[in-house]
Amino acid sequence: MKTAGGLDKLRSMNAHPSSGKSDANNPHSPNEGKTAELTPMMAQYVEIKAAHPDALLFYRMGDFYELFFDDAEIAAEALAITLTKRGKHKGEDIPMCGVPVHAADDYLQKLIAGGHRVAVCEQLEDPLEAKKRGSKAVVKRDVVRLVTPGTLTEENLLDAGSNNFLASLSHVKADGDQGYALSWVDLSTGLFRVLATQLSTLEADLARIGPAELIVSDRALSDDMLRALLEHASPAVVSQPSAFFDSMSAGDRICRYFNIASPDAFGAFSRAEMAAIAAILAYVEKTQIGERPELNAPAREDAGGYMAIDPATRTNLELTRTLSGERKGSLLDTVKMTVTGAGTRLLAERLASPSLDLAAINARLDAVSWFKSDRRLREEVRLLLKSVPDMARSLARLSLSRGGPRDLAAIGEGIGAALVIGGRLAQHGGAREEEVSSVLVEGQAAVLSKAPGELAEMLSSALLDDLPRLKRDGGFVRDGYIEALDEARALRDESRKVIAGLQADYAELSGVKALKIKHNNVLGYFIEVSAQHGERLMSAPLNDTFIHRQTLANAVRFTTSELSELQSGIVNAASRALAFELETYDRLEDAVVAEAGTIKDLADAVAEIDLASANAELAEVRSYSRPELSKDIRFEITGGRHPVVERALEKALSDPFVANSCRLSGDDGQGQICLITGPNMAGKSTFLRQNALIAVMAQAGMFVPAERASIGLVDRLFSRVGASDDLARGRSTFMVEMVETAAILNQAGPRALVILDEIGRGTATFDGLSIAWAAIEHLHEVNQCRALFATHYHELTALSEKLHRLFNATVKVSEWKGDVVFLHEIVAGAADRSYGIQVARLAGLPDAVIARAKEVLAKLEATERENPPALIDDLPLFNVVMSSRTASSQHAPDERETQVLDTLATINPDDLTPREALEVLYKLKRDAR
Ligand code: ATP
Repeated sequence: MKTAGGLDKLRSMNAHPSSGKSDANNPHSPNEGKTAELTPMMAQYVEIKAAHPDALLFYRMGDFYELFFDDAEIAAEALAITLTKRGKHKGEDIPMCGVPVHAADDYLQKLIAGGHRVAVCEQLEDPLEAKKRGSKAVVKRDVVRLVTPGTLTEENLLDAGSNNFLASLSHVKADGDQGYALSWVDLSTGLFRVLATQLSTLEADLARIGPAELIVSDRALSDDMLRALLEHASPAVVSQPSAFFDSMSAGDRICRYFNIASPDAFGAFSRAEMAAIAAILAYVEKTQIGERPELNAPAREDAGGYMAIDPATRTNLELTRTLSGERKGSLLDTVKMTVTGAGTRLLAERLASPSLDLAAINARLDAVSWFKSDRRLREEVRLLLKSVPDMARSLARLSLSRGGPRDLAAIGEGIGAALVIGGRLAQHGGAREEEVSSVLVEGQAAVLSKAPGELAEMLSSALLDDLPRLKRDGGFVRDGYIEALDEARALRDESRKVIAGLQADYAELSGVKALKIKHNNVLGYFIEVSAQHGERLMSAPLNDTFIHRQTLANAVRFTTSELSELQSGIVNAASRALAFELETYDRLEDAVVAEAGTIKDLADAVAEIDLASANAELAEVRSYSRPELSKDIRFEITGGRHPVVERALEKALSDPFVANSCRLSGDDGQGQICLITGPNMAGKSTFLRQNALIAVMAQAGMFVPAERASIGLVDRLFSRVGASDDLARGRSTFMVEMVETAAILNQAGPRALVILDEIGRGTATFDGLSIAWAAIEHLHEVNQCRALFATHYHELTALSEKLHRLFNATVKVSEWKGDVVFLHEIVAGAADRSYGIQVARLAGLPDAVIARAKEVLAKLEATERENPPALIDDLPLFNVVMSSRTASSQHAPDERETQVLDTLATINPDDLTPREALEVLYKLKRDAR
């Protein structure tokens, strides 16, 4: 199995080596037909493995999960653990490796991260039970769970601040109607969404959601185009039976899972949406085997409810990850002030999906203002939030019977904290001096105040303060909670004390000072003396008291009837105590799961309050301001800063970031398209990106790094920045640049914001210049959107004379003793040169190269002065493309056009003879020329 992404993984999952090589000649794979040759245990293994060919089988044997055959070889390599062998198959050793159960999570994490899937096979009965059926009887075992990247719930397999999504893609063809839908769920929190989509937007949707695993029907995957698209768009694509996606039976499946009478209870879903939801549920049932995670009702997302950001733009702007794929250095990392995992997940979601809902954005901004206006309250609430555990994730584990005592306690603590925070917020709401109010905070405070306090009390009175992770061994119920449990524990502890006392008695009786009473899981309590004293205890008269149990190389072990009695007393008392504890656990778990809906609301409220107070803190400490949003197309940023670069400069104790304004509103004679020229390293890219990031933050409901910002909602954001190739997809640097530019020119509408950084640089100068030239004309005449365009082609600045909504800006520099000094200030006007050679010198190019470059430049400039390139002003702008749009634009007709129009207005085609018509046509042609 490979660890590469996309379909490589898909293929490898469907043709797992251990099944693929499973032929009669491969000694490393058991021949399923010949299980008779195997020991009963191996026969059982082979049978279970055959049912899970696409996963590594973790086969439980006592305290270990063992892997055999190919699985063992794959796991041993992936986990860097020893490969051993156990028994033989067809005359050859059977490869084997194992991982201890207590450390299984760590190994699982490595395997899942490496693109593997794991089937966890447990012992379903006590081995002693099996023994009763005969010495050769095999312990009953079966797979209890399939661990896949999209279905994780364990705390240490997950990142607290990120969602872990399992997504499904459905495709329904009905009456010539093509419908796609995406559904996604986070099993670790219950979040469940669905979205109608199209092939053209699928990649962008997947980039926004970022699923850890995507399931698609095998039939849909037989479409090569879809296959190719998904290969690129999603990390782990898993093919599943078409029956999972059957839209006809989807309703039944949804009703069964949620125990409702009709899926309409959740809203009216299309067939594709129903199929996507049902496929998720089918896969959850398949992987969780018998467990039913608590999932929210699937909520439909409005396809037009978010700022559309295509995958290239998302990557270029480094919203949630940097270009190299790390969190650190991304916008998310820079603006994250949340103190809970749930709050961070909400922030990541908001930044990944900036809203187009003006009312929702304003409500979020109100909540930030509310917290910003009261520092003391904010600090208090943030302090309280720090101790709120991740209730959503604990609840998910408990609902899957995969939780532990700490998860129970987490719910109790969470409820307790919610009540305190809710009370604190409500009490403060009325006591405000300023006219600040927030419906969102009030609403969430009300939710928090209604937290089920009795449940929290029940949990805290039952559970100890210091808890074990697993319920398995007990030790989590408080003394005094159940009388019978206290008694059993007392008995157990009393006997232990008596045993501890016995050691001294037996040492005296035997005269062996070094005699010890020890304990292990096989023998229980036993007496141990060194080999030299063993004989003495086995001889009269001591053998009346000491009963021999075991002789080892250096030690001999004994028991006594008294010790055995105490031992069985302890065992009985201990198992009784454990039974009481486990019973208590189940009761508490049921009580928690019964309140699942309320607890989820609490968890959501905590996330909202965390995010709002964190954004207020961010606004305060970084001097961000509240943006003004509207439904028009204004874009006015005063004193804007790049949040990430500003922070990096601060951390490096460099000169402070230079704030810059940007106005693209297109009114007052100001342009909508800003063409920025300027030296290398001056700050052009930074300026471009900062304006895009400010729009993203504003629509995510956050304050922005600017003195003032007034933004008409941006419905699509495009950014073509820098050069990168995509060789995996067979695209060169220039090809990538052109594909991205094409997407922008074809899709950007009047509400879009377009950032274009140096297009046309990946080809010959004139080709590139021509493309850039034509692209700007297209943006101006056809797309008519707000745009920032940075370039080193200074020739393009001439365009501002022709395109009335285009204006030039440049970045100020000064020269000092031949070196260029960057001032990072954006001013009106055009740059005369790029200072490329000076920057190259700063970068450390050898002096000889710099000197020679200067010579060449001087020559080239002299030649250009002698033969200046013809100004391209005689070409009409987009005379074909524009025709449909110009009618609606404010373009004034020129003299030629007026003449043609006049002629057309005066004629009546019905009155013309054929000859006259021909003459008119000739005249029109003449006029137009
Ligand atoms: P090139 O044309 O070579 O791509 P550029 O003009 O796009 O260069 P940037 O990459 O935006 O330049 O900026 C170069 C560096 O200048 C940044 O990494 C940052 O450290 C610094 N810088 C940019 N803008 C500012 C600013 N407004 N204030 C302070 N420093 C800045």
